[in-house]
Amino acid sequence: MKIKRIAHIGIAVKDADASKNFYQDMLELPVDREERLGELKIAFVPIGQTNVELVQSTDPEGVMAKFIAKRGEGIHHLALEVEDIDQALAELKAKGVPLVDQQARPGAHEARIAFLHPKGTNGVLIELVQYTH
Ligand code: ZN
Repeated sequence: MKIKRIAHIGIAVKDADASKNFYQDMLELPVDREERLGELKIAFVPIGQTNVELVQSTDPEGVMAKFIAKRGEGIHHLALEVEDIDQALAELKAKGVPLVDQQARPGAHEARIAFLHPKGTNGVLIELVQYTH
């Protein structure tokens, strides 16, 4: 398995537009792109070779809304870019690492993604990302 970099740090926010203003106006970091992915509204703020990913649920029952209700706004997950996500998942499965996603699925940035279960990672939700282009 080859891990190349921290692709992004996912942050659960109540309001992606308000949050991106902090990065743009206070930190002078422009938003690179915004996307909708199912119920999620996502804004990417590039910082060097990585990104801050601001993620908001548009559905009050959505995944980020539930996270915020339980734990408040804040860091939600760490995304690692891998060369080959199928190979990485097969290797991790063989090593007994608990997975949320048994198979890679489509994510933001037209990437393929899969989450590892936080019970196997000291409580950190880790996302694997493979860019398709
Ligand atoms: Zn992510």
